Amino acid sequence: MNLKKEYDLIVIGGGAAGMMAAITAAREKKSVLLLEKLSQIGAKLKATGGGRCNLTNTLSNEDFMAKFGRDGRFMQDALAELDHKALVDFFSKIGVDTHAPDGFRVFPTSHSSSTIISALENEMKNLHVEVICSQKVEQILHSDNHLNGLKTQNNTFGASNVIVATGGLGYPALGAEGDGYDMAKDLGHKVTELSPAMMPLRTKEEWVKNCRADTIAKVEMKVDIKKHAKLRANGDLIFTKSGIRGPVVLDFAREITPLLSKYSEVPILLNLTKGMNEEQLSKHLKNEAAKNPHVETLKHVCTLLPEPLSIEILNLAEINPKEIYSKIAGAKKAKLISLLAWTPLTVTGHDGFKMAMITRGGINLKEINPKTMQSKIVDGLYFCGEVMNLDGPCGGYNLQWSFASGYLAGKLLK
Ligand SMILES: Cc1cc2nc3c(=O)[nH]c(=O)nc-3n(C[C@H](O)[C@H](O)[C@H](O)COP(=O)(O)OP(=O)(O)OC[C@H]3O[C@@H](n4cnc5c(N)ncnc54)[C@H](O)[C@@H]3O)c2cc1C
Repeated sequence: MNLKKEYDLIVIGGGAAGMMAAITAAREKKSVLLLEKLSQIGAKLKATGGGRCNLTNTLSNEDFMAKFGRDGRFMQDALAELDHKALVDFFSKIGVDTHAPDGFRVFPTSHSSSTIISALENEMKNLHVEVICSQKVEQILHSDNHLNGLKTQNNTFGASNVIVATGGLGYPALGAEGDGYDMAKDLGHKVTELSPAMMPLRTKEEWVKNCRADTIAKVEMKVDIKKHAKLRANGDLIFTKSGIRGPVVLDFAREITPLLSKYSEVPILLNLTKGMNEEQLSKHLKNEAAKNPHVETLKHVCTLLPEPLSIEILNLAEINPKEIYSKIAGAKKAKLISLLAWTPLTVTGHDGFKMAMITRGGINLKEINPKTMQSKIVDGLYFCGEVMNLDGPCGGYNLQWSFASGYLAGKLLK
């Protein structure tokens, strides 16, 4: 084998997990090479949090793990090494101040993900981590369950340890195209079923396009199928030209994707009126009408919702927006109240991995040692970040997991 150079560790992927792994290994005096297939590192990290990078949140480790479902406890050792406080401290020491404006989600005070990327890049430079971009790793080289190095399109690099930090399949334009799954399978690992999670949803109802500029705060959303009525989410929602997006939709999409493969359409109900129930809504409209008896009904509904959405809800209730509230028949009023309490929509699909912030599924956790992130199959092979079968909701969960798993893999490298 014509090796370019021999390293203690090669990290595949310059995302959140890979950069953190490279830094911790280099701090442990290992010689480290990081290979990134795009022309620059941190492309996905740059896009996070709408460019502001919601890097973690303030939950306790127990509550944090619970949000990842059944397999959440897999993160216990990684979080014991690097929980949200330790992550904030890590960034503070490399020059990034952070804050949690809502007391929960943590961002850099600069409001820019570029600050995070520059700090990680500088730290790698200080620690003499060799970073080579535009190097797509094609194969991990091994013999008798021992690693020898890897091959890119045009080079061969030697190393006895390799960390796979190649991410998932979401937003492929930002580098994650599932390469790590193929590398892992090649070495005998299993990859669970992969599906897109956290993406906008398409709806059957065309009226949504008339409300596309509207952002609605504190929406509650639930599935209108008896068997799945427990599936609920809360948060802000934005109407789009073909459906819905926003934090509440991202969380809901994680749950709804499996239902979409079972049913061709999924009926859902939305409370768009900040949790008001029928009784409260009826009272509210009655009061508004009493205060302004000669004002059209639309104005009263607009005290609850933006005008375009108010018009659409009145249309659904078959009420002329200009009609005076006291003149509307009882049955129509009841329909309006019911539509304001729970507005129905029908989810018909999504744009798949192209717009998915997260991949559900990944490398089987049973084949990875949670204390080190090392493969139980091949000596010297490690995984970190989204490439593994763990995904959390919206709110700094996935980056915290990527940083913590990268930290553990790099630190505990043999
Ligand atoms: C638009 C968007 C916004 C998000 N916002 C947030 C947020 O605010 N908070 C949060 O917690 N999570 C957020 N997420 C999720 C979060 O970004 C990911 O979970 C996290 O970045 C995963 O980190 P990673 O290092 O595992 O993978 P990635 O960041 O995807 O990095 C993997 C890297 O590996 C490289 N690579 C892949 N294959 C190869 C190969 N063969 N050879 C060499 N290099 C390769 C890729 O180019 C990429 O740079 C967001 C995701 C998206 C898409």
